[in-house]
Amino acid sequence: MSKKVAYVTGGMGGIGSSICQQLAKDGFTVVAGCGPNSARKDKWLAEQKALGFDFVASEGNVSDWNSTKAAFDKVVAEVAPIDVLVNNAGITKDGVFRKMSVEDWMAVIDTNLNGTWWMMQEAAKRWRADGKPGHVINIVANVERGMPQAAHNCAARAGVIYLSKTLATEWAPHKIRINCVGPGVIETEGFNVYPEEALQRFHNANPMKMRGNAWDIAEQVLYLSSPAGRFINGDLIIIDGGQAQWGTVWPAGMPDYFKEDGAA
Ligand code: NAP
Repeated sequence: MSKKVAYVTGGMGGIGSSICQQLAKDGFTVVAGCGPNSARKDKWLAEQKALGFDFVASEGNVSDWNSTKAAFDKVVAEVAPIDVLVNNAGITKDGVFRKMSVEDWMAVIDTNLNGTWWMMQEAAKRWRADGKPGHVINIVANVERGMPQAAHNCAARAGVIYLSKTLATEWAPHKIRINCVGPGVIETEGFNVYPEEALQRFHNANPMKMRGNAWDIAEQVLYLSSPAGRFINGDLIIIDGGQAQWGTVWPAGMPDYFKEDGAA
């Protein structure tokens, strides 16, 4: 039997790398997405090869439909039709709403919301044409209660969560499942844009006094993609040590950091 194929956007980033590795260990052929002309692609592929992983790279800008379509066509032609899509590519451009530029708003919405829409359009139309089952996992964030300095990101993630819940019912008769995974504070290069002091505050504000790592998210993606996840559909699974349940994802004192930064 041929191996199942998983396409992970942002597959060469912190969380993405771990998702690719866990899916590959489970027997998937894994396509790792990256932006066009990625500076890290060749080095990342070589590093993964040294660790025993043979990934296929796919270059494409998820915030541009033509680029997404071209990348998808290439994967299907050169690898195989995909079985699992993980929409993990994402950006943040933190700042208070009052000073948020149109460019920053559009960049985050285009990548974190529209990018997911483009990818799901490409996947779903192929699954429907081939009469194949499929599964989408959208990596969002633990922003259900909102998050200061991240209006664009929260709006984009809320859009993805409710888009996913809607498609879960639309697609269910065709055996296509769709779920969201919402990470809390996960130690990756992407998150390390915050100074150590800010990271420590996130740590102290967590009820478990922990920060997660990429593996915590990857294991959940693996579970949802396995037969054990076959009856889970339209769900949002928050992985943040209970931080959002506590009332806020934004620790006391954090706005000071932005004040110092001139943003507040
Ligand atoms: P990361 O290391 O910065 O990785 C993000 C990846 O997204 C990069 O590999 C990047 O591709 C890709 N990407 C960004 N814009 C793209 C575009 N327009 N087209 C194609 N690819 C694009 O981030 P991470 O920490 O692993 O986070 C992964 C996801 O989880 C993101 O959606 C992030 O917002 C979300 N998240 C993270 C945390 C956290 O604490 N780390 C918390 C909540 C949510 P290149 O390889 O080309 O740079």
